[in-house]
Amino acid sequence: MKYVGAHVSAAGGVENVPKRAHDIGAKAFALFTKNQRRWEGPPLTKENIEGFKEACAEFGYTMDQVMPHDSYLINLGHPEEKQLQKSRNAFLDELQRCEQLGIRLLNFHPGNHLDKMSVEDCLDRNAESLNWALDKTSGVTAVIENTAGQGTSVGFRFEYLARIIDGVEDKSRVGVCIDTCHAFAAGYDLSTEEGFRQMVDEFESMIGIEYLKGIHLNDSQKPLGSRLDRHDNIGEGKIGLKGFELLMNDPRFDDIPMILETPNTERWPQEIAMLYDMID
Ligand SMILES: [Zn+2]
Ligand SMILES: [Zn+2]
Repeated sequence: MKYVGAHVSAAGGVENVPKRAHDIGAKAFALFTKNQRRWEGPPLTKENIEGFKEACAEFGYTMDQVMPHDSYLINLGHPEEKQLQKSRNAFLDELQRCEQLGIRLLNFHPGNHLDKMSVEDCLDRNAESLNWALDKTSGVTAVIENTAGQGTSVGFRFEYLARIIDGVEDKSRVGVCIDTCHAFAAGYDLSTEEGFRQMVDEFESMIGIEYLKGIHLNDSQKPLGSRLDRHDNIGEGKIGLKGFELLMNDPRFDDIPMILETPNTERWPQEIAMLYDMID
């Protein structure tokens, strides 16, 4: 079963998210559990927590279909001690919010080395940050998202994600989310059958399909290998429809949240329907 959905707004409280997802025909959703552009957010209230759980039950979402995204400010590979600790504290808060809501997955981007440390050291620091935060929580898996490799962001090749996983002590609580736009920008040509197969084979040999916990469904405005992160609506970018047809018909992507983060949010109902129509 494919769980296709989108990253919907949590305006007015997380308890409003499941209905918004339902209204666009989503079978999965992502959300921010706090303002993604601020370090601090008010704690979740009892009303938020119970309202969210009730709405998930009402609209038929299990926790296999929910994968929130953490704040954009967090850099778990930060080269400077003080900033690193700030990021770790914020990430811990995000994990705890998931615990409160009963959510089992938390998607995040590996950090930026900011030209102040080596890529390898930055990857290892990401793993140390995960160990630190996972140790203080339970039941939530940290899901590393592959990046486009823009600027000094690390984690745009699968071998880099494998290195982070290698450094995580509790392997049962770490996973990977493949963002299709980021993968394409990083040089994985999933627009063709051969390139798609190569990408999945590489994922299987370097990371292992059991670590795949989610997908971000985005076309790419920028060309293959550009290392630029510009999402496009499905079928309108450089990946094109073929890549998404391959994805939708591959059983290795069953039963995980597949989340649209495409720019024209008004088109999400049609995009979700179109993606389901691709299934043979
Ligand atoms: Zn993404
Ligand atoms: Zn992106």
